[in-house]
Amino acid sequence: MSGGLVLGRFRSLLGSSGHAKAEQSVDLTGQELQEAVLLLQDYEASGLGWFWASNGDGRITYISDCVAQLLGRERSAIIGEPIQALFILERDEEDQVERTLPLLLSARKTFSDLQVRAAIEGKETWWSISGRPQFDGNGDFCGYRGNGNDITATRQSQRDASRLAQYDSLTGLANRHRMGKRLSATLTAYQTAKRSCAVMMMDLDRFKAVNDTLGHPAGDELLKQVAGRLTRIVNEAGCEIGRLGGDEFQIMIPDLEDRGRLGELAKSIITMVSQPYQIEGSRCVIGASVGIAIAPYDGINSEELIRSADLALYASKGGGRGQFRFYSSELHSEAERRRQIEEELRDALANDQMHVVYQPIIDTKTNRVVTLEALARWTHPELGDISPGVFIPIAEETNLIGALGDWVLKRACMEAKAWPGGVRVAVNVSAAQFGNTGFASVVAQALAHSELPPERLELELTESVFLGDEGATSDMFTQLKLLGVRLALDDFGTGYSSLSYLQHAPFDKIKIDKSFIRGITQPGNRNSAIIASIVSLATALEMDTTAEGIEAHDELHAMRKLGVKQIQGYIYAAAVPSDDVTEALLSGEWVIEPEGPSKYRPERRTVLRKVGLIHDDHRYEVMMRNLSRTGCMVEGLLDVPVGTPFVVDFGDGQLAVAVVRRSAGSTQGLEFEQQLVDDGAGGLCTRHRVSPYILAQVMTPATGAGSLGLTIPRFGQIDTGKPRSKVA
Ligand code: C2E
Ligand code: MG
Ligand code: MG
Repeated sequence: MSGGLVLGRFRSLLGSSGHAKAEQSVDLTGQELQEAVLLLQDYEASGLGWFWASNGDGRITYISDCVAQLLGRERSAIIGEPIQALFILERDEEDQVERTLPLLLSARKTFSDLQVRAAIEGKETWWSISGRPQFDGNGDFCGYRGNGNDITATRQSQRDASRLAQYDSLTGLANRHRMGKRLSATLTAYQTAKRSCAVMMMDLDRFKAVNDTLGHPAGDELLKQVAGRLTRIVNEAGCEIGRLGGDEFQIMIPDLEDRGRLGELAKSIITMVSQPYQIEGSRCVIGASVGIAIAPYDGINSEELIRSADLALYASKGGGRGQFRFYSSELHSEAERRRQIEEELRDALANDQMHVVYQPIIDTKTNRVVTLEALARWTHPELGDISPGVFIPIAEETNLIGALGDWVLKRACMEAKAWPGGVRVAVNVSAAQFGNTGFASVVAQALAHSELPPERLELELTESVFLGDEGATSDMFTQLKLLGVRLALDDFGTGYSSLSYLQHAPFDKIKIDKSFIRGITQPGNRNSAIIASIVSLATALEMDTTAEGIEAHDELHAMRKLGVKQIQGYIYAAAVPSDDVTEALLSGEWVIEPEGPSKYRPERRTVLRKVGLIHDDHRYEVMMRNLSRTGCMVEGLLDVPVGTPFVVDFGDGQLAVAVVRRSAGSTQGLEFEQQLVDDGAGGLCTRHRVSPYILAQVMTPATGAGSLGLTIPRFGQIDTGKPRSKVA
């Protein structure tokens, strides 16, 4: 007899099906009764299910032996205990149903298939139980009869399935579905509580290259390691990290709206993710870009917030990778511009919109120009000059870099050949160009076609060339060296800079990136010790060193002291057209005297935009002339006394409390009460913003503050005329 059939029989015998309406007494003969007991014992012994009964006080009067065995107790010891003693009825996030059992029992209700956890220490066992109240001839309650069966395996597989539906099987992080659900739930709850919540979107830079060169299993391994690092860095309470698919990650950070702290977190995420990975024995380096949006400022519901974070991510990718960006309302027009750039880059070469300019690289000791670096320029008919920092990454992504790079190479060789004397030309080469097996012959052709001697051509490579297959990379180095060209390692000090590359690759020069040099003259900056060791290593390996981006005399002085051989930077010259190079070299030698500020001032940013100044409930429009972390200079109000407090309104809910520190005629220097923080795009922003909820209140006339701008102004105002322009 099958278990199901037996159970059906006993359910009806015991009247515990939950469906039977009233007690149906079955008249059994003595023979049948005996048979029934044997069947019951058979069934209990089969392990398919068990039975229980209780009295009017809720104490156990019958329990199958298999339950006693499972609980590791004597059957006799269980008899007389309250029925609840068989279960663990604690509350659990997922298993709320358990709590209903005591309620049902005390209400003397019929129940069926209730999931409960068995009172077994250490081993999780789950039962499905049913019970039916019993009444005596007078209609008085006299206990329960019921049955149960083990559902541990079913529950486990249900749980696995729900885990699978919520988590990413590769990395173990939350998946898109779960992130969406959690974010919506959090934002809905926070809306009434007026709490904030930040969302970061992160996308890996150059992940496609890893997948393409090392294969998909390596790509998967990399994603796992990225997830591991993210989990280690992001450990704020209530945070959740998810992988939305591909190389796209999302982090939800409740109750954090401080853009200073969020910026720091984004920076440390980018730094950690950009450290090299060891994958199947190969080393690989990737980067990361981050976009940040904060509720309720940048969106109130999850769709809005994610759209804002996505847009910020798009902007950070467009801004040259390895960066973070906060959402701001201007990003919409920036995104539009970038889309146009992407679309029109393809035709830029054909439409003759590209040209090459050359920036002098100077011998530190003699101030003589020794090399000129070719830099691509794109003048768009509507958008004007577009920086290579913007269009080169787009060209790399859209596979246009090959054609563009070849064109620059040919052009630079031709123009350099026409220059008087033996000055060198340096050409930037993307990893994508370098990874193309035909690249050496492209270089050979450019040399042959222009008749430029190979030793006058220097190729600038970045460490991303080491990302590709090791054998192919070393072959390419050999081929290029055979051609007789020089090789330089560009942008050293950005991303992960490994000195070990220098020992293995035949570089003739290291170019130390400007970001590494910035701030070198400030006390406590450790980069000068590192540059000193780079210089000594380069000298030992007979390589040249060039410091990039030198703008001020203090930096130049520091580079000279450290023994850096060559300098490139605005202190000598910006890039110029080829004709200017020809002209300057006519006398045979081109010597440039350094000219620039005595000290590099990283803080001052010249900006020109209108901002609001609020004083005594009156809002003035003034022109901001420059901005630093600690203060700004404004023009437009007449004779404001020193010490006057203002609230500076930068727009988008960015308000800063400030005090006038200097005042001359229509110009005032204001000092902020709280310093501004990096906005990730080279600009500054306020740490906190005024919540749209509060703004809405302020704007309501009933509060009295709605009169902003209607009071009598205390200061005279002059018209500064210029239209409002971009946020700093
Ligand atoms: P890079 O190779 O590191 O080039 C140096 C960049 O620093 C140039 O920016 C140059 O104008 C800038 N620079 C030079 N001196 C100073 C200074 O004193 N201060 C500051 N703040 N900047 C200075 P540019 O022309 O915008 O080029 C940006 C990057 O675009 C280049 O960085 C290079 O990686 C890439 N690039 C430019 N042209 C090409 C090209 O033809 N092919 C490839 N693959 N990449 C290119
Ligand atoms: Mg370069
Ligand atoms: Mg560089």
